[in-house]
Amino acid sequence: MAPAAAATEVEVDAWAARDTSGHLSPFTLSRRATRPGDVKLKVLFCGVCHSDLHQIHNDWGNSIFPMVPGHEIVGEVTEVGSEVKAFKVGEIVGVGCLVNSCQNCDRCTRHLEQYCQMKVWTYTDKDYDGTITQGGYSTIMVCRQEFVLKMPTNLPLDAAAPLLCAGITVYSPMKHFQMDVAGKHFGVVGLGGLGHMAVKFGKAFGMTVTVFSTSPSKEKEACELLGADRFIVSKDPEQMKAAAGTIDYIIDTVSATHPLDPYLSTLKLDGKLVMVGIPQKPVSIHAFSLTSARRYVGGSGIGGIKETQEMLDFCGEHNITCMIEKIPISYINTAMERLGKSDVKYRFVIDIANSLKPED
Ligand code: NAP
Ligand code: ZN
Repeated sequence: MAPAAAATEVEVDAWAARDTSGHLSPFTLSRRATRPGDVKLKVLFCGVCHSDLHQIHNDWGNSIFPMVPGHEIVGEVTEVGSEVKAFKVGEIVGVGCLVNSCQNCDRCTRHLEQYCQMKVWTYTDKDYDGTITQGGYSTIMVCRQEFVLKMPTNLPLDAAAPLLCAGITVYSPMKHFQMDVAGKHFGVVGLGGLGHMAVKFGKAFGMTVTVFSTSPSKEKEACELLGADRFIVSKDPEQMKAAAGTIDYIIDTVSATHPLDPYLSTLKLDGKLVMVGIPQKPVSIHAFSLTSARRYVGGSGIGGIKETQEMLDFCGEHNITCMIEKIPISYINTAMERLGKSDVKYRFVIDIANSLKPED
């Protein structure tokens, strides 16, 4: 039998950024008492997304400090509220980028909670009860059951954690924009957390995959370990010219401001480029890059809860996980510095359970 829901708030160890310097250090936060519809979990692993880096520096202008980042959270259920039927104590679950939404609007009823105008992000947002949300760089999470995911039981949990953001953020547009067609040529711009998952999904969908990267050092791994068919150093105009008009669909995961024209020129007639990277400043497009070949540019944000579960199940069936560097929480400031220099292969994942203790 599940223990009775805790009647009071709990003090939780965490690491937080206090200001836009982005420096993270130990912090204590309160998690609410478990409500009838809540699931409480002991956090085991949390991925480090480039969005965490954007947010601790307030790149998007909406950051709230002190901030405990982290939205690729895997943990073990320690308590469920009286109304929770789908989750049990001891089960391994995930929480991604969302912890609340209205559940009523046309977006929520179409399982597109990520576009609900009243959605609540996992951290640096205000929840419906007025509290500020805090993320997974912490030992305990409490979350509405509607936003809790079931992790595939056959995947290593540390390498599966980044599926909750990096995985779904590329899977969702590949499905929605029909960029998952076997035999088609798929381009991935930026080989980081999101990009390496896009390569893996492209191969799982039977596509030919080209990686556009600014890091020549990533070529061997991209081709030999991730399965990419072609690697183009995007800073080399000759290599870019040789790729002109060869690609059907591109997913652009780049975190920094960059012109889209060089990538658009590699698309075929009717080619699509979908942006998932969110640089701080606007990106430029010359209209001619679109009009000359009836090309299309779109964008996409994470994925809904139903689709995230579908993606997790797909990864379980096809044995798809992320390539990770597992780190203790004490390494987080160095990890953030390296992430800012595109120096991670290909996602940092924090071993929360073994490294976030009070004495840290
Ligand atoms: P990441 O691991 O840092 O990967 C980004 C990659 O972009 C880098 O590894 C690098 O790849 C490339 N890059 C970096 N600077 C570049 C530059 N100046 N010019 C060209 N390429 C550059 O980051 P991530 O976690 O995958 O996130 C990527 C972006 O997606 C971030 O902006 C993040 O906030 C955003 N995001 C969006 C959503 C959404 O819902 N749409 C969800 C999650 C994250 P190479 O070394 O191969 O060039
Ligand atoms: Zn993310």
